[in-house]
Amino acid sequence: MSAAHLEVGDPDTRYPDVASFRSELRTWLADHDLSPGPDHSLDAQVAQLARVRRALYDADWMRYGWPAEVGGLGGPAVLRAVLGEEVATRGLAEPGIYSMIEVLAPTMISYARPALAAEMLPLLLSGREQWCQGFSEPGSGSDLASLTTRAVRQGDTWVVTGQKVWTSLAQYSARCVLLTRTAPGHAGITAFFLDMDTPGITVRPLPMMHGVEEFAEVFFDEVVIPGDRLLGQPGDGWKLAMDLLPHERSTCFWHRIAYLFSRFDGLLEEMTEPDDAELGAAYLALHTIRCRSHATQERLAAGIPLGPETSIDKVLLATAEQQLFDTVRDLLPGEIELTDSHWRSEFLYSRAATIYGGTAEIQRNIIARRLLDLGRE
Ligand SMILES: Cc1cc2nc3c(=O)[nH]c(=O)nc-3n(C[C@H](O)[C@H](O)[C@H](O)COP(=O)(O)OP(=O)(O)OC[C@H]3O[C@@H](n4cnc5c(N)ncnc54)[C@H](O)[C@@H]3O)c2cc1C
Repeated sequence: MSAAHLEVGDPDTRYPDVASFRSELRTWLADHDLSPGPDHSLDAQVAQLARVRRALYDADWMRYGWPAEVGGLGGPAVLRAVLGEEVATRGLAEPGIYSMIEVLAPTMISYARPALAAEMLPLLLSGREQWCQGFSEPGSGSDLASLTTRAVRQGDTWVVTGQKVWTSLAQYSARCVLLTRTAPGHAGITAFFLDMDTPGITVRPLPMMHGVEEFAEVFFDEVVIPGDRLLGQPGDGWKLAMDLLPHERSTCFWHRIAYLFSRFDGLLEEMTEPDDAELGAAYLALHTIRCRSHATQERLAAGIPLGPETSIDKVLLATAEQQLFDTVRDLLPGEIELTDSHWRSEFLYSRAATIYGGTAEIQRNIIARRLLDLGRE
């Protein structure tokens, strides 16, 4: 049954409640096999992601929770959380790259010209394009506000020169949400929506510890960006970056937690000598972040702005993820160290959980200073 069957007459409530959405979605997924093939390469994962998004968009599932102005069908954002949960639980798409949409699309909706957002968002939602986030630089990660990639206004255009690094999926991306420096200080950071095929851009993929080239260095040599690709006004880049963080830590996290629970189940199936204490501790860590993330989803749904308290979600999630794969290492002896299995890849990737999206040390600093008022170290 297509999602359209779920609509009720009133144009303001043309979307299903959560329970109907989930049950209709499950029926649809049971009837439409979107399982990935045996190839686990990044090329295959990115192609699979595009296939899944395309199918879900064409059947409307991917459109719920997004505004009509950008190709959506409206409804609460929680419907996106449910969709991502069902996708992650079935292993249909790698949750990290699936969830990038949850960061980039809301940013475009808030900051792009309405006509630009309306033109571009359907390309992302429908899997026709992949986009990337060009924030970090070789000298500016935790201290993002020190970034130096320069944008200089020339008539109706801006000319960008500099370098980004750790840009996830840059080599697959058609567009980039890019932070540049246009003046000193926080108020001198300016954001653009850039076409990645613009002359002057060089992308060099970088291998991660598990051998996968998931991110890249991106070099900009006098890259010309039209003025109508500004996101917000000149100087709005820092605000954009801060507004983006809660998106990174709400629905994205819900998807990832669902995926981690599915991996916990995978461990239960494969292990032969259970250690109840260690399994219990890993489960408890997952359950704790799921409860926390549920409360975050509720605040989001109630329209309460998310702020530094999401640093707690980040610490809990990264800790739970690493604890889960530490448990895998202990209960599947040799699997991580001696085989080239999916578990090994996931264990190594889990080490990055305390780095991406803000490091564990920075999150603890935020919790200490802004939530506990403990002052500077
Ligand atoms: C898998 C992955 C994907 C990523 N994808 C993207 C992407 O798509 N786009 C993008 O822009 N970036 C991306 N990043 C980059 C990520 O945001 C940065 O790695 C992160 O913000 C940390 O910055 P850094 O690497 O420069 O480390 P640094 O900031 O140099 O930190 C190095 C170490 O010093 C510690 N440290 C730094 N400052 C302090 C302080 N004040 N107090 C205490 N400790 C401190 C840090 O915690 C860390 O342990 C990705 C990173 C990873 C691992």
